[in-house]
Amino acid sequence: MHSASRLKPEPTTGVASLAPYQQGKLAIAGVANPLKLSSNESMAGPSPKALAAYRAMADQLALYPDGSQRALREALAQVHSLDADHIVCGNGSEELIQLVIRAFVEAGDEVVLSQYSFAMAFIHATAQGARLVVADEPDLRPDVDKMLAAVTPRTKMVIVASPNNPVGQYLPAAELARLVDGLPPHIILLLDGAYADYVDAPDFDAGERYVEARDNVVMTRTFSKLYGLAGLRIGWMYAPPGIIDAVQRIRTPFNANAAALAAAEAAARDTDYADAIRRENNIELARIAAAFAGSGIEFVPSAANFYLLRFMAAGRDPAGAAAHLEADGIIPRPVNAGGPAGCLRITVGRPHQNDRVIASLLAYMQG
Ligand SMILES: *Cc1c(COP(=O)(O)O)cnc(C)c1O
Repeated sequence: MHSASRLKPEPTTGVASLAPYQQGKLAIAGVANPLKLSSNESMAGPSPKALAAYRAMADQLALYPDGSQRALREALAQVHSLDADHIVCGNGSEELIQLVIRAFVEAGDEVVLSQYSFAMAFIHATAQGARLVVADEPDLRPDVDKMLAAVTPRTKMVIVASPNNPVGQYLPAAELARLVDGLPPHIILLLDGAYADYVDAPDFDAGERYVEARDNVVMTRTFSKLYGLAGLRIGWMYAPPGIIDAVQRIRTPFNANAAALAAAEAAARDTDYADAIRRENNIELARIAAAFAGSGIEFVPSAANFYLLRFMAAGRDPAGAAAHLEADGIIPRPVNAGGPAGCLRITVGRPHQNDRVIASLLAYMQG
């Protein structure tokens, strides 16, 4: 008996303006075990040490987690040479992005979002009643001049993913320095480093030094990608004291669950495993790029665990390529209206999985 005319509770104007989030495709009709390369998950899975730590928590599920998150914060501080007091962990880095936005952004503010960043930031800023201003990335990587040009007296925060998504390109260190120096000190710069763990280029800077030197720079990181723990939901942020303090006031004490904290601590300490995953990913990126050379498929350079493909031959397009991949049991991610036109995004898998993608797409181009 729900009728449109009856009086009913109304969500806030910001919430009412939002559309529901679309998750990547999870299944293909009639295929038992599809190769899901649509959400940038780790195909290698977590470190065996992380799995063991997770399983060991089965005996302690009656207990609340450590609300201070001390063990994980200290492990991260040791491994990455950071200050443990300036780390907060969350239910995925998504929660930390949400907490920073909720703590600092209110109705009437503007949030600048670099074009190929995280859709969730749009949701949280809009829900706060803020206006989202997109800074274009015409060269497919974060554009410092566009971000600075988007700043107005109402700007409260600038959010940029580096490497970005769905492209996988990062802000070189000198460009990041120019961005940090160009922003007034009352505007928060949130560096979303979801894919920072993959980058081994010497001119990459995840931004830790700016977190330590400034009051307005925050970095978020995650165990969802390279560390293979997306299902557990665990991420962290590194932030200056004023931002830590504000986030601690609204963070619920048990936002990161005990199993996630334990598994992430073991994962963070297993640097040999992380190094091996990074090495394989980057070798595979180069191998995949080479395999498509001359095929009519343009491989857009990436420093992350996924890549964009553009279909340049007559009669070949992302929809046709996606259908062909799915017929071969592989799920890619179509790039929606928000992304570069005419592209498919595909997660880097294990070598034998990447071979399947290459074979399927070369057959599509020739067929
Ligand atoms: C995957 C991803 C994240 C990580 O989200 P979690 O909540 O940590 O799983 C953040 N930003 C971008 C751009 C991503 O693609």
